[in-house]
Amino acid sequence: MGDMTGIPPANHEELLAAFLADRDEPCPVCRYNVKALETSVCPECGSRLELQLSSPDLLLGPWTVALLGAALPAGFYTVITLVTVWLSITTGPPSRREMPWLYAFYALTLMTITSCLVVIARRRRFLRLHKDRQWAIALAVSSLCVGSVIVYMALFVADKF
Ligand SMILES: [Zn+2]
Repeated sequence: MGDMTGIPPANHEELLAAFLADRDEPCPVCRYNVKALETSVCPECGSRLELQLSSPDLLLGPWTVALLGAALPAGFYTVITLVTVWLSITTGPPSRREMPWLYAFYALTLMTITSCLVVIARRRRFLRLHKDRQWAIALAVSSLCVGSVIVYMALFVADKF
C-alpha cells in the first residue's frame, strides 16, 4: 500500500532530496527556502512535502468554465426559487397566469443544478478529452445555462410590461 504514486516512501523521499539538492524552492506552506533538504518535512513549519507533477491548465481550464457556467445560473435560479416559495407561503399561491412562468423557472433550476452535478461527476472523464473538445463542451454548457437566464428574463419582461 502506501502512497498513490506507487513509489515506496523511501524512494519518494530520495527523489524529493535529489530535486531539491540544487534548487531554490519555497515550502508551499510557509515559503521557507527548502533547498538541499534531505527529509520530506519542512524544517521551518513542519509541513510534510512531496514531489508531484502539476499543470497550470488544471485550475483555469475548460472544466472550471463549464462548472462556473452552470453553477452561477444554478445559484441565481435557486435564490429566486426560494423567493417564489416564500412568496407563495406569505402572500398565497401564484395566479393561473403566473403558473407557466413558475414551472418553466423550476425546470430551468433543475436543468442547471443537474448540469453542475454532471460536470462534477464526470470531471475525470472530461479532463481526458482533447483540449479542443473540452472547450467546445465547456462553452456549450455555459452558453446553455447562462443563455437560459437571459432568454427567460427577456421573455418574462416582454410579457410583463
Ligand atoms: Zn514550511
